[in-house]
Amino acid sequence: MATRVTNNAIPGETDYLFQGLRRLLAPNPSPMTYRGTNTYLVGTRDLAVIDPGPPDQAHLDAILGALNAEQRISHILVTHSHADHSPLAMALAQITGARVYGFGSSYTGRAAVMEGLPDLGGGEGRDETFLPDEMLRDGDVVRGSNWALEAIHTPGHMGNHLCFAWDAKRVVFTGDHVMGWATSMVSPPDGHLTDFMASLTKLQNRKGDKIYYPGHGDAIETPAERVDELLQHRRMREAQILDALSTPRTPQDLTRAIYTDVDEALWPAAERNVLAHLIDLTLRKIVRADGEISPTARFAKN
Ligand SMILES: [Zn+2]
Repeated sequence: MATRVTNNAIPGETDYLFQGLRRLLAPNPSPMTYRGTNTYLVGTRDLAVIDPGPPDQAHLDAILGALNAEQRISHILVTHSHADHSPLAMALAQITGARVYGFGSSYTGRAAVMEGLPDLGGGEGRDETFLPDEMLRDGDVVRGSNWALEAIHTPGHMGNHLCFAWDAKRVVFTGDHVMGWATSMVSPPDGHLTDFMASLTKLQNRKGDKIYYPGHGDAIETPAERVDELLQHRRMREAQILDALSTPRTPQDLTRAIYTDVDEALWPAAERNVLAHLIDLTLRKIVRADGEISPTARFAKN
């Protein structure tokens, strides 16, 4: 596989990754989205678009402008329905007639423990209207003229998150589940750390994947190492939380105790992350909440 990995993605320009794979960067950079959302074009004649991106006319024009006279968009695949990944699917489907493939709505795959939780905000935003034409389940394969993409259900960042494996190329499109630039946001009620860890292990157990193409940032050329790193990072954070739980504490107290080296502006995000750990630890019966699990509950070690 001749791979050229570019590190200088520019909105509106097409990055040629290898024969049959191109990347387009959406013009939506932010602290949550890094340089912007990566949209991938898979195939050489009938194309799959993975993650059309935010509802942006310039990005829509760039996707359509990347096609030559022999090419058409036959499939639209969505890793998950955060507002920076899925909203453009609808317009693209209307123009091209392609069907939209995904796991389900923004609430499909959400764990029962998340149901009573308030929306904490501060995330990437949910695409509330997202509903795929075709619901994919774990292991389903979507086939085009010279490509096949297998859906891997990877809840954690969001309940409806899918990765797509292009086994013939030993490539996995990892959406927001595994990225190189950040450790992925796991923010309840969309984010569920227990699922996230299981989904990392699921990728760890796949053998032979050579490269990951994430939803934001550069390709990951050492995927197994990155997955190990992410698992270790979360285990380290868990150990810190358990240490700090020598006395019962709320997520807010814990955040202040643990994230001492972090700018206060980042504390709300850190607090959602701590809550994600506390929910996971509660489900594993290592920790308990005084009353219902909530962002203001006091948690103690069992
Ligand atoms: Zn996301």
